Amino acid sequence: MTKDQVPPRLLTRRRALLAGAAAVTAAGTAGVFAKVAGDTDKPVRTAAPAAGAQARPALKPSSYRLQPLTGYGPPRVAPRRTLIRREPLLSVSGRGRTMVLTFDDGPDPRYTPHILDTLREYDVRAMFFVCGEMAAANGDLLARMADEGHVVGNHTWSHPLLTRLSTRRIREEMERTSDVIEDTYGERPVWFRAPYGAWNRTAFRLGAELGMDPLAWTVDTLDWTAPGTRTIVDRVGNGAAPGVVVLSHDAGGDRSQSVRALRAYLPQLLDSGYFVTVPERHYA
Ligand SMILES: [Zn+2]
Repeated sequence: MTKDQVPPRLLTRRRALLAGAAAVTAAGTAGVFAKVAGDTDKPVRTAAPAAGAQARPALKPSSYRLQPLTGYGPPRVAPRRTLIRREPLLSVSGRGRTMVLTFDDGPDPRYTPHILDTLREYDVRAMFFVCGEMAAANGDLLARMADEGHVVGNHTWSHPLLTRLSTRRIREEMERTSDVIEDTYGERPVWFRAPYGAWNRTAFRLGAELGMDPLAWTVDTLDWTAPGTRTIVDRVGNGAAPGVVVLSHDAGGDRSQSVRALRAYLPQLLDSGYFVTVPERHYA
């Protein structure tokens, strides 16, 4: 299907999606320091410091794309491409006490519907980094995510360790997943997350070519180790802070603890005054 042949139902979803995206910009505004995922000792400056709307409110999207930022050759001007980063974003910047919940590896019909039910109960939007093979088998769940305003990101087709793959295979993993997301969700994804948080330069470059920004996380619930619902809830509660991105999983194993934990920590976050939402991208 070409972009000019989007059926009316998908246009409705797109409106819902855009309406659900709140005024949160991707982290990376000047002066933001964060820690690289998987390296708890070494603080680094996040890449691409000029992409935040707050930093340069006067720039139009077409202008900010022309800023020389990351040192990977000449600026790219193709409208669908994004800046090539050297590190993934680890947090979001927004107004006030904003947090983002992300769920990886799905969708899984055993768990994802329960997570969606809880999010709907509290009228909260979240991000789902889906695997293409899961999305292809559960297109109805991606359609529901679109209808309910959630953001779907690309988590590769089969969840490989990208750092061990050829450029051709990485491209296949990413491109095929974006294709199936477009078919089932109605929009191509604008966010990408590498399996295991293992990015390399090729993944950053191909992600940018496919119009996606790399998003990692701030707080890892380690829910995939099934540490107990209470532990997951505590990890989210202890890690809660403005701009925090929380990593959980809705597939890849028994995720019943993740489902139960969300029912507990989501109302706690909201009661604490957090605005749980999804990051906004700057569309060309
Ligand atoms: Zn994953």
